[in-house]
Amino acid sequence: MKPHAAVPAPGAEERSAPDLANLPNLAERRRFILGTTSGLAAAGLGLCNLRPLPARAESGTPPPDPRQTPKTIRYQDYSDIWRDKWKWDKVVKGTHTRANCISACSWDVYVKDGIAWREEQAALYEPSRPDVPDFNPRGCQKGACYSHLQTADSRITHPLKRAGARGEGKWKRISWTQALDEIADKLIDAAIAEGTESIVFDDGTTNAGYGPESAGDMRFAEAIQATRIDSWAGVSDMPMGALQTWGLYNCEGTSDDWFRSDYIVIWVGNPVYTRIPEVHFMHEARYRGAKLVVVAPDLNPSTVHADLWLNIKPETDAALGLACAQVMIEEGLFKRDYVLEQTDLPFLVRQDDGRFLRQSDLVRGGADNALYLWDEATGQPVVAPGCEGDGSGGRSLRLGALRPALSGSFSVTLADGARVEVRTVFDRLRAMLDREYRPEQAAAVTGLNPRLIRRFAREMAAAPAAMIFASWGACKHYHSDLFQRAMLLLMNLTGNQGKPGGGMRIASWWGMDGLDAMTEAPLSLMDKLRLIPKALRGFTPRDYEQIFTEISDKSPITPLMVFLYVHGGYKEMWDQAHLQDPALPRPLSQYLRESLDRGWMRVHPPEHRAPRAYLFTGCNPLRRWPSPQIAREKLWPKLDLVVSVNFRMSTSGMFADYILPVAGYYEKYGIKYGQSYVPYIICADKATEPLGEAKSDWEVFGLLSKHVAERAKARGIGPVRGFRDQPLDLSRTYARHTSDGKFDPTDPEDPIKLMDLIFANSPNVAAKSGREALRLGAVPVTAHARPSPIYQNYSDFAQGDTHWPHRDFVEKRVAWPTLTGRQQFYLDHPWFLEGGEALPVHKDPPHARSKYPLRINGGHTRWSIHAIWRDLPLMLRLERGQPVCFMNPADTAARGIGDGDMVRVFNDHGRFECMVKVAAATAPGEVIIYHAWEAYQFKGWQGQQEPVEAPWKALHLAGGYSHLHYRMFYGGPSHAPRGAPVEVEKA
Ligand code: SF4
Repeated sequence: MKPHAAVPAPGAEERSAPDLANLPNLAERRRFILGTTSGLAAAGLGLCNLRPLPARAESGTPPPDPRQTPKTIRYQDYSDIWRDKWKWDKVVKGTHTRANCISACSWDVYVKDGIAWREEQAALYEPSRPDVPDFNPRGCQKGACYSHLQTADSRITHPLKRAGARGEGKWKRISWTQALDEIADKLIDAAIAEGTESIVFDDGTTNAGYGPESAGDMRFAEAIQATRIDSWAGVSDMPMGALQTWGLYNCEGTSDDWFRSDYIVIWVGNPVYTRIPEVHFMHEARYRGAKLVVVAPDLNPSTVHADLWLNIKPETDAALGLACAQVMIEEGLFKRDYVLEQTDLPFLVRQDDGRFLRQSDLVRGGADNALYLWDEATGQPVVAPGCEGDGSGGRSLRLGALRPALSGSFSVTLADGARVEVRTVFDRLRAMLDREYRPEQAAAVTGLNPRLIRRFAREMAAAPAAMIFASWGACKHYHSDLFQRAMLLLMNLTGNQGKPGGGMRIASWWGMDGLDAMTEAPLSLMDKLRLIPKALRGFTPRDYEQIFTEISDKSPITPLMVFLYVHGGYKEMWDQAHLQDPALPRPLSQYLRESLDRGWMRVHPPEHRAPRAYLFTGCNPLRRWPSPQIAREKLWPKLDLVVSVNFRMSTSGMFADYILPVAGYYEKYGIKYGQSYVPYIICADKATEPLGEAKSDWEVFGLLSKHVAERAKARGIGPVRGFRDQPLDLSRTYARHTSDGKFDPTDPEDPIKLMDLIFANSPNVAAKSGREALRLGAVPVTAHARPSPIYQNYSDFAQGDTHWPHRDFVEKRVAWPTLTGRQQFYLDHPWFLEGGEALPVHKDPPHARSKYPLRINGGHTRWSIHAIWRDLPLMLRLERGQPVCFMNPADTAARGIGDGDMVRVFNDHGRFECMVKVAAATAPGEVIIYHAWEAYQFKGWQGQQEPVEAPWKALHLAGGYSHLHYRMFYGGPSHAPRGAPVEVEKA
């Protein structure tokens, strides 16, 4: 069934032909409705058979006002009123482009009289295969009421300028010209004083999109060479454990592939809240016999559907994973061939220094990145095919005649004649697991029964296809990387990574080659010429990673945590002794110093210069950043200009100097970012004109570039210091933004021109123009695109099948982009060796030593996407209507707290007040407060982040080691918003 086929094309049959001679006009219609006794109620109840009023001439009513547009309604009976209510001027395909929900859903948006009144799920998706359920319908309750949010009290409709102190809440309405000129002048002033890197642009993650909505601000930031904040790790969404193991972190397919799994483990996730359009595939898989397992401390809404619940102690997940690995190895339940080919477990490690055996150890002048296996066929160490220095570019994992030993100790002669013992990673791992992670030992850490751990390990190993749904929640703890490495070890021992219905799943995005059109060309002609030899022999994943790193090096992009440490005033907090990892020999400050000095990590503006201007689009830093009171007190005073570009008022907007109003999701053209869950690219047509004086993001940033160029020209400004102090002519900002006039952001059709370019140059999707894409709403994906900084699934897309990640590595034996070319569980980076994390281990986080007995945990909520929708009355009505935390009855009883009481959640560092919901589903010791209440919803505007110190892990600053490096959207320190130690008392 194709329900969308029933929806008339915009402007088609929905309109009735006017019949001016016989019909009452609009005023008549109102009088008719109001004048009829209980007209609407009667119509609703069907109590009487209403007839139109008599003709005017007979009734003696005055002739119709010719200024009124005649309506086309012919009232024959009460049902016509109802019918009229459900007639629309047009129905267009829409979505919620910049909401940063982790799904993409097409909606029919119903428009009458220039207003988007309602939306309805567009159930137009075809099933991938006949034997899997389809995707219909997709959507969530937030999307179902975006038409309300778009016109809610929080909507910004005119440019605003601060009239009082920052955060005082006093604003005055100004014209676009005044706003743009004043902002442009302040940006120019900042550039003159400290260079353009002192202009900091932050689009967070909320604002990501694939079309004109994101292209506008990306082009602006590039044109003015502003520092760009890399918030991926900054919001703790960077799966560092996946990156450390794979050299990439995209790992998802279409969500219908979950249906093909036999053993689904939800591990640090709550998809019933966070994957509303997708989660049904997990539940449907149970109808074909799949088992659903949840590993979580709390009985959350996903847990209630589980066949097996492992109610683990918070932050002990790595210990559980390693105990399962111990069982699988001890009982011989692992897939030997997969492990030999796809992992580094057969690689040789020197016993004397714990480093991989390298060619440079054995041969003078040998390669430092050529690593060894022990070949049982020849009794010799042999350079592993596929490793970075294998001599052929590290392309293929094919072992050929090699017979690698998985286990064993061997003696080798070094180049200087000395002999050393080497041992396989597998043997080192097994020895550690047997020594420290037997289920009985893990039970003491995790609180789980050893029998349950063994059962879990055995069931997972026996399942034909097992997957771990890990979500972004599995990135938000101090040692999340260790959790993930342990989970991946299980997916490797069981041979599941790269298989349908199997492997670890976090998220991934579709590639579209045409997305290049969103930005100015990142690679020069010379860069491209240099790449020709590699292109001719075929790019490897490793080649792509080098290209992405080079592109990243060409712009002043900065990981958020490093920016806040250096410029934001957070150093003092993060240098405190209680936030240091006791297992590391040095404090964070020393690791950061070394990382910056070696060029592994970077910061813009440079350390000796201050940021002067801060522009943010849609994101909400003073709601999201840890301890935002520090940013307010220490970063904000450094800033001469703070600008919020948003369709709604936010906590951060409250502290801005200017607010520029952008169009709502239904008021502009857009392409939702291409989440791989659904094999379609979802587009949004423009349903209505923007409210008030709001403008599309494409136009706003085009105008900003234009005004910067004009003001620079008018003021006679010469070249200023641009990126890396290179001279930059600000009077050419608009020319750069528009690629020398290729675009005209003031033209209402310009976004379509950009979409035309994107689709025409994306052969892997089934639309060739922007208009076609907008008409379809959901454009089918037909093939895979070339990899991009965020698209690295490395799997062919097969029409007529579900999609899953990493097929190229497993089916085509392509080498993984790691030092070893394998899924790498041993990291012999000096920092990992000194920190005791060469192998995945369990470690307590620094806050394990805290004097405060409770821990803040939480996750994304069901009722908002970040702070968007958080204050919408319709959503608030579905919960307690105000910020609420969940606590176990034992914890509330011990503190004399009752359900519905207001409490103070505090530590030495900060506090907030909220209501308590007493819930036995919450684990003892936990205070669960779901994500993203606006600070202004709390007393004194002290939001839920104030007590959260969010320490971060120094090892995330490591670089200079093959796949351990930083580039835009890859690596970067990931802080720990979860687990903040607090006490709670009655307010
Ligand atoms: S907000 Fe996201 S998940 Fe919800 S309906 Fe819109 S696109 Fe779908």
